[in-house]
Amino acid sequence: MTLDTYDKIMMLAKRRGFLYPSFEIYGGSAGFYDYGPMGTRLKENLENLWRKYYLLKDANIEISTPTITLYDVLKASGHVDEFTDLTVDCKQCQTSFKVEDIIDENQTVEEAVANDTVTCPDCGSKLSDAHPVNLMFSTEIGIGKTRDAFLRPETAQGIFTGFHLLYRYAREKLPFGVVQLGKGYRNEVSPRQGPIRMREFSMAEAEIFFDPENKSHELFNEVKNHKLYLFDNVNEMKISMEKAVDEGIINNQALAFYMYMTQSILLDAGVDPKKFRFRKHADDELAHYAKECWDAELFSERFGWVECVGIADRSAYDLNAHITASKTDMYALRRYDEPKRITKKQIVPKMNVLGPEFKQRAGIIKEKLESMDAENIPYPITIKVNNEHINIPDNCYDIEEITETVPGDKFVPHVIEPSYGIDRVLYCLLEHNYYEETKNDELYHKLLLPPSMAPVKVGVFPLISDEKLIKIAKKLDKTFRENDIFTTYDDGGSIGRRYARMDEIGTPFCVTVDFESLDDNEVTIRNRDTTEQQRVPIDEVIKQIKNQLEKK
Ligand code: AMP
Repeated sequence: MTLDTYDKIMMLAKRRGFLYPSFEIYGGSAGFYDYGPMGTRLKENLENLWRKYYLLKDANIEISTPTITLYDVLKASGHVDEFTDLTVDCKQCQTSFKVEDIIDENQTVEEAVANDTVTCPDCGSKLSDAHPVNLMFSTEIGIGKTRDAFLRPETAQGIFTGFHLLYRYAREKLPFGVVQLGKGYRNEVSPRQGPIRMREFSMAEAEIFFDPENKSHELFNEVKNHKLYLFDNVNEMKISMEKAVDEGIINNQALAFYMYMTQSILLDAGVDPKKFRFRKHADDELAHYAKECWDAELFSERFGWVECVGIADRSAYDLNAHITASKTDMYALRRYDEPKRITKKQIVPKMNVLGPEFKQRAGIIKEKLESMDAENIPYPITIKVNNEHINIPDNCYDIEEITETVPGDKFVPHVIEPSYGIDRVLYCLLEHNYYEETKNDELYHKLLLPPSMAPVKVGVFPLISDEKLIKIAKKLDKTFRENDIFTTYDDGGSIGRRYARMDEIGTPFCVTVDFESLDDNEVTIRNRDTTEQQRVPIDEVIKQIKNQLEKK
């Protein structure tokens, strides 16, 4: 059997503790992975790099909200009705498939369904009756009197539902951004792409709130000459951010800035620049909430170009939806230099007339009258209650003029959302940094991860299993860890095997204590990439490696 790169990566990932298929002893379940000891470290390094950009370079704030989300939230956001995949079922194999996953590359989903050309990838049967399936895992909160809920399909809604509190926290100034890292859950239809399509996965999302009249970014000028790798579905181009915005290729500065952040994070993390691009969504591809969207795509040998980050201009979609559904004031204020005194008309319902006339419907009629625009009242006023249109007689309300002090214009902020799939990026990092060669008829693997990403920074070895060498090596290992440097201490097997094990997990340095060390107090540092070895005094080894790790 010939193995492709994906097979080799996943074998390495399992052998060396990056990713394990979950619940394997019970037959496993597609779409779930355990992060092993190396995977957990690598993921943490990636998330910390992300935080460095989003919390330190761009001073956003981080929050953490529940992964279980009320039905009402996801009904309002459109996920209950629209978060679906078009699916077909194979009765022969008793399996369901997402249509998009099993059609010919040069066909669109619409064409395949219309032309009836969808076939089962396992048995070849013709499949029809494509139907939408909602991807959310549902659950109930409480016992007895329960409330419907879902596992969240994205972290974003937790940010939107707290917008009014966060806006106040940000001292009512725009733009400001809120980020959240955490799990998202999607009941994907028959996932077959390993860590690329999981049912529980890690997301890092940022919601940056803007005044729609000003989608600029204060750091744009600093980085405007930076070149972005763009693909507009026809041409690939490497173009400065400034030019991309001026020529309308990217809609606004803010969107371009967050694309720059994304490109920088991914390249710093070790993505191969030749396997990276931003692809613009065609109009018919846009999600139900998005106005403009660019995907950061990473190339994978088996899966082709994979969307790893979506950067969307969600406009005011989500906040509007939550304002309407929850009736909460989630507006922002564009302040005037001086508050203004304005006179306006207002409808004042007369409950002493509405009450006897409309009985239990009087309350809802009052509310609806109050929320009407008194400057443009239709005549007669008709109000819809429980699908019944009711004419409201003039004697049920007064129209009064009121004067009030207004501090500014109220508006619903727009939002730009960079949304990262951490597991996809992590898989692509493994693939892009995987390197193999044959040494003495044996296949030798290396992960050439940037040192900042490497799960273990230093392998510490005594050359052979000798008490005197072990004592020094263990002391050195402890000192590294006391200096916040992750190590692996290893005194088993030949030194060559130990180097090989470290190369396979991407450890950039190994330090070996040998018999000479007993006389000269020096140890050998071995560099992963060059395999060069250098003698260094024990007292300086920590400082030297620290310097190398901090180097860009
Ligand atoms: P979306 O909200 O669909 O744009 O997803 C945001 C990001 O999450 C995508 O860019 C992917 O990187 C990631 N993602 C979405 N679905 C999955 C999945 N089933 N498994 C792993 N990552 C995913």
